[in-house]
Amino acid sequence: MESLAHFCCQNPDCKDHGLRGGTNLTACGRYGQQKQYRLLYCRTCKARFSERKGTPLYRSHLPEATATSILKHIDDGCGVRQTGRLVGVHRDTVMRYSRLAGDHAQRAHDELVAFSPPDP
Ligand SMILES: [Zn+2]
Repeated sequence: MESLAHFCCQNPDCKDHGLRGGTNLTACGRYGQQKQYRLLYCRTCKARFSERKGTPLYRSHLPEATATSILKHIDDGCGVRQTGRLVGVHRDTVMRYSRLAGDHAQRAHDELVAFSPPDP
């Protein structure tokens, strides 16, 4: 079974919110058409949430390979229409996933930069 060490509680009211590597999380079930995603449970606040919550693929209806392919094409410099043609999705879908990934990357950047040591 895959480790839960890189997951954290997604409930903003929980005292363990955002703390990775704790012992408060367990996998309490699976969901999805092929039961491919885990449902995580926080023992501290008793909340259940998807292992994808807080990621750009949360509530995604596309197959994971298609969604990551969209983002790889955009990352490689392909245009929106070109990516849509190559992956086989509508250009609006490409835009939606690009915005989700961009917002997520900005939040990750802000979180990581906040802990950088100050420049003397
Ligand atoms: Zn919690």
